[in-house]
Amino acid sequence: MNVLVTGGAGYIGSHCVRALLDQGHTVTIIDNLSTGYLQAIDSRAKFYNTDIRKFDKVMSILINNNIEAVIHFAAFSLVGESMHNPLKYYDNNVYGTKVLLDAMAEANVNKIVFSSTAAVYGAQDVMPITEEVLETPSNAYGETKLAMEKMMKWSDIANDTKYVALRYFNVAGAHHSGEIGESHNPETHLIPLILQVPLGKREFISIFGTDYDTPDGTCIRDYIHIEDLISAHIKALEYLDKGNESNTFNLGSGLGYSVLEMVEAARAVTGHDIPAKLAERRAGDPARLIASSDKAVKVLGWVRNYTDVKDIIASAWTFHLNFKEGFKNDKHKY
Ligand code: UDP
Repeated sequence: MNVLVTGGAGYIGSHCVRALLDQGHTVTIIDNLSTGYLQAIDSRAKFYNTDIRKFDKVMSILINNNIEAVIHFAAFSLVGESMHNPLKYYDNNVYGTKVLLDAMAEANVNKIVFSSTAAVYGAQDVMPITEEVLETPSNAYGETKLAMEKMMKWSDIANDTKYVALRYFNVAGAHHSGEIGESHNPETHLIPLILQVPLGKREFISIFGTDYDTPDGTCIRDYIHIEDLISAHIKALEYLDKGNESNTFNLGSGLGYSVLEMVEAARAVTGHDIPAKLAERRAGDPARLIASSDKAVKVLGWVRNYTDVKDIIASAWTFHLNFKEGFKNDKHKY
């Protein structure tokens, strides 16, 4: 298929681009490089350095490349920043998606797979979380992603644009080649921050809260490997291509690991003692988030290959050893 990937220079988008190309699809990328990197872009893809909020540009890209489906990653995704600057999130995430959907309707592109998030759920009492529970986002980021989902729903009713919303839990790890991985500046996610200690970039890892109602007092999260996550996107694309109805799926491993367990696993992987210091809770962190992904397994036929969190950390470690200073914006890597 001719697929447009928005945000194809980002962490998750770049892995999706590579998987699509490896499977014989033709890939066009739109990325404004606000958080993505040229170095992450696969040179086999056609790249437009532009913004999804530019209707005319998006329209011409859709038409000139005979785009048949869109996979939409371009969005801001930092919870903390979304609380300080919510309108930045509404502008890029909600308005950007509105422009993209408008252009798709105009260009007769009627299939979209898009990245949503477990943040749409907010704090929930019952674990694992299924897609049926009432969404109660507790931060602006999650609220914008839920608004994007609702926009897709109404666009489907009005314009017959079919969508699959994929609600990610904690995405982690790197491509098995070690050539692309998670590179953020500033970094806020747990695994890359832990790995900065053995890389000599940070003296210790801070544990945000040790008095949660969990067995060791630290937050529990569901970590899913990036390549498993991406395989669900390809399945979702095939699902839409077969003419199925719009749908929403959780993507997680179904397993919960505490922050302390993650630090311990990283010690085992890296052979470094990784000092940890107890710190205050981070605002807005729910104690536990664990996905039920049974629906994706059943309906999409999704298969996960990474079942041990040490393997997820090991793949991230390989990438960070290859790119100690992270990605830069100067050239194609491969
Ligand atoms: N966390 C931590 N120290 C850090 C960064 C994160 O203890 O330096 C915790 C965070 O409070 C959360 C978990 O690690 O419980 C995962 O955080 P991350 O930001 O990676 O993902 P999130 O769950 O916010 O999507």
